Amino acid sequence: MLEIRNAMEEIVDEWLDWVINQLDVCGCEKCRADIKALSLNRLPPRYYVSEDGKIYSRLEELKIQFRVDVIAALAAAAFIVRSNPRHNRVSEVNEDEKTRF
Ligand SMILES: [Zn+2]
Repeated sequence: MLEIRNAMEEIVDEWLDWVINQLDVCGCEKCRADIKALSLNRLPPRYYVSEDGKIYSRLEELKIQFRVDVIAALAAAAFIVRSNPRHNRVSEVNEDEKTRF
C-alpha cells in the first residue's frame, strides 16, 4: 500500500512537546493543534511516498536539515498561541466578541 506523507509534519510532531515545555506554553489539545497548524503553514511541505508504512530512507537526513527551521516555526507559533489562546472559547468568535476576553 502506498501512502503520501509529509516529512515536515513528522519533524514538527517530534519537536512539538519539547517546544511547548521549553516555552512554558499551554499543552492542551486545542493549543497543541493550533501550534502545529500554524507551524506547518510556515514550513514548506516535504512529501514522500511510503510503501507499506516504511519510513523514507532520507528522513533522518531531512530531520537534521530542517530541525532549525521547524523549531523556529514552532517557537513563533507558540508565542502567537500563548498570547491568544483559544482553549477557553466554545467556538470561533467574531471580532466584537473577542474584545470581551
Ligand atoms: Zn490550551
